[in-house]
Amino acid sequence: MDDDARALMNEALDVPPVSNQRRKPPVVMTIAGFDPSAGAGILADIKTISAFGGYGVAAITSLTVQNTQGVFGAQHQRREFVRDQIECLVTDFRIAAIKTGMLPTPDIIAEVADFLSTNPLANVVVDPVIRSTSGFDLSDDLAVAALVQHLFPLAAVVTPNAAEAERLTGIRIVDTAAMEQAAAAILAFGPRAVLIKGGDVKSACATDVLLDATGAVVFNAPRVASSSTHGTGCTLSAALAALLARGMTLGPAIRIAKRYIHEAIIAAPGLGHGHGPLNHFPAGFELERAR
Ligand code: PLP
Repeated sequence: MDDDARALMNEALDVPPVSNQRRKPPVVMTIAGFDPSAGAGILADIKTISAFGGYGVAAITSLTVQNTQGVFGAQHQRREFVRDQIECLVTDFRIAAIKTGMLPTPDIIAEVADFLSTNPLANVVVDPVIRSTSGFDLSDDLAVAALVQHLFPLAAVVTPNAAEAERLTGIRIVDTAAMEQAAAAILAFGPRAVLIKGGDVKSACATDVLLDATGAVVFNAPRVASSSTHGTGCTLSAALAALLARGMTLGPAIRIAKRYIHEAIIAAPGLGHGHGPLNHFPAGFELERAR
């Protein structure tokens, strides 16, 4: 990590001195699926939130059978059970931000949307998880429609990757102009902002496009050749939620979250035989936090 990146992260994290460890961390809730290989889903979210100095709590929407080589099954939870988990947490913790990941059924989406409508929160990051990198459908067509209709209007930011943006808009994402066009179409569904991630688009840089009412911003990051990319989408959206929970605005939060992902891929432990997990505590980042 270069000095600029380290300075930016420290500033963002507002690292508490060791003598002030009792300062309460912001609580960030993830409503998402469980990946037992800990590369994606709630385990990746909790690691990420911890890396950014937050306290992560979770409501599980689905238990998946999964390792670095693929997703082999899923047992979706009942809507009432998801609601019970959320209610139980909010009666005990003041939630500073929420991120949603795998919401596999229209019922679960309706429940989450109902909860957010009756408990409005400024920092809601909606990651429209539709299909795993290995090709397993984590959500069906009806769930995608429900997500757009009920949850997008409640989001501070929606974070589709290029494939998800194509599915949501029907626009083929071939370049930055197409990303901006798709972002405009998604913004019209009602979220305050849209971040389309271009990590899987064939281009020299990993280019993301942020669009809100004030216009578009393009973020470029150097591309890293690596197969350790399992859970990058979950990790980015969890990082954004953790940074928004700290009071940061979206633009700076995206810049920091992208640098974090870059470091987490470079420092990946190389585990498993497929798409390996990230290192959610890359050395430079962790060292600075322990200062
Ligand atoms: N499994 C769960 C529970 C997830 O939430 C996600 C993504 O959000 C995935 C799998 C997919 O991860 P990937 O796209 O890295 O395969």
